Amino acid sequence: MDRLSSAGTLKEIIHKYQFRFNKNLGQNFLIDTNVLDKIINHSEIGENTGVIEIGPGVGSLTQALAEKAGKVVAIELDTYLIPILTETLAGYENVVIIHDDALKVDMQRVISREFQGMDVKVVANLPYYITTPIIMDLLEKRLHISSITVMIQKEVAQRMQAKPGEKDYGALSIAVQYFTKPQIIATVSPNCFMPQPKVDSAVIRLDVLDKPIVQVEDEKKFFHVVKAAFGQRRKTLVNALSNAGLFRMSKQEIKDVLKELDIQENRRGETLSIMEFAALSAAID
Ligand code: SAM
Repeated sequence: MDRLSSAGTLKEIIHKYQFRFNKNLGQNFLIDTNVLDKIINHSEIGENTGVIEIGPGVGSLTQALAEKAGKVVAIELDTYLIPILTETLAGYENVVIIHDDALKVDMQRVISREFQGMDVKVVANLPYYITTPIIMDLLEKRLHISSITVMIQKEVAQRMQAKPGEKDYGALSIAVQYFTKPQIIATVSPNCFMPQPKVDSAVIRLDVLDKPIVQVEDEKKFFHVVKAAFGQRRKTLVNALSNAGLFRMSKQEIKDVLKELDIQENRRGETLSIMEFAALSAAID
């Protein structure tokens, strides 16, 4: 069958089904085959790969994934796209379509039911309005996924990959880098989509680490420290932590903790490495 990602084929499908794009569902369909090939090549899928795709749209990425992977499970929320997908993917026996909200699907169940013995990866052109909750949900549940290769808003990809001291470094950088090694693969301009989004996009690959990059005894406290440090960006670390209302220690006690850890109290949260956040969260109360 013709590649669904060509603008002409997509227009034909839209016309045939009288499909209307739903802005609220982040529907910006990829119409650039070079970008699609980049996603496929960088996601490194093979016969033993089970792929979870979130938001298949009319199935252009799904089709390319199905040609390489052992099996693809594509989760689509929009009811109007289900009959289209049923037709466009009819020739692919290794594709399972789930009509549901990806945020509500029990991914653990999908993995154990559909991908026994396979290397599981997530590959998607994500609906941007749920980028962070989807990715954090996949990571926090510690599912057996080896990598996540996704198209997301460029600015969010830059935040995920940012290092201490860089302007984009923040709580999201730490959350993502705690669980994965991120790498931006490509930046993608709005004219690669139909309809065009208002923002630039990027393809990012997150390689999931076997275990988090630092050992943290109390993860909840670790992320509280991160949240407090970045919650008041213009404040020094000692002020941000003591004003957060998340810890029992007095300002003086927090100062003492920082001194013990050799972290200057007038540093700002955005300069701290994940290791320093881990040490701080072990010592603060
Ligand atoms: N994969 C297609 C492509 O690359 O052309 C479409 C990508 S489009 C950016 C995002 C897709 O996610 C749309 O098909 C949209 O309907 C779907 N979607 C939006 N919210 C969703 C959700 N909560 N769960 C599953 N799919 C969702």
